[in-house]
Amino acid sequence: MNQTGPLAERLQAVADRIQRAALAAGRPPPRLLAVGKTRDAEELRALCALRRAAGEDRPACGENYVQEAARKIPGAGPGIEWHLIGHLQSNKARQAAGLFDWVQTVDRPSLVAALARHRDRARPLEVLIQVNVDDEASKHGCRPGDVPALAEAIAAQPALRLRGLMAIPAPHPDPERRRPAFARMKALFDALAAQAPGIDTLSMGMSDDLEQAIAEGATLVRVGTALFGARPPRPAPG
Ligand SMILES: *Cc1c(COP(=O)(O)O)cnc(C)c1O
Repeated sequence: MNQTGPLAERLQAVADRIQRAALAAGRPPPRLLAVGKTRDAEELRALCALRRAAGEDRPACGENYVQEAARKIPGAGPGIEWHLIGHLQSNKARQAAGLFDWVQTVDRPSLVAALARHRDRARPLEVLIQVNVDDEASKHGCRPGDVPALAEAIAAQPALRLRGLMAIPAPHPDPERRRPAFARMKALFDALAAQAPGIDTLSMGMSDDLEQAIAEGATLVRVGTALFGARPPRPAPG
């Protein structure tokens, strides 16, 4: 495996940032989720090979769109843990339940039911509740006050396993300004842990704010641009 080149360098730089931020925060380093939107299967395969060579057993990759993931997953090769990180329409729940290991964007009871219906309880789907933590304009994610009821609905489904929370704070040019939202998510996570002691995942932080997210307690960061470079403009979603 070629361990040099721009992809290897960017991966190393991201790994270093994560390590440094965790050390500074006195927390265990979070998991890395490589966000593959607009990237092809070959790039994902190459990145995962580098991550395996660096000692990661089953690298985690995230996709925003079910259709795009369906096209890419076969070509990216085996041994990858696939996460859905984009909004999920209920009419795509069946396909998502078949393709992904994790769905990070569960935000309403109807979606809980739809995912559970299409998943084999012998192999439960790992789920995160997406919280609309501060972005009033976003239609996605539940309100913070809805988390306990949604967690209860998930717990009632043997085909689903609640692992924690996910958030995409409102964009702000200064990542420091996203810190209060990350802190609110950590408080919500700790409150939920009292109700659902098995949870272990707080998914927050992206290329430009992973330090702030880790400082506030992220256990999984979702990184695209810092790994793959700037995204080309997106064609019509398919
Ligand atoms: C695109 C995306 C990311 C990664 O964003 P970058 O800034 O490219 O690191 C993380 N989470 C979600 C939900 C995304 O859509």
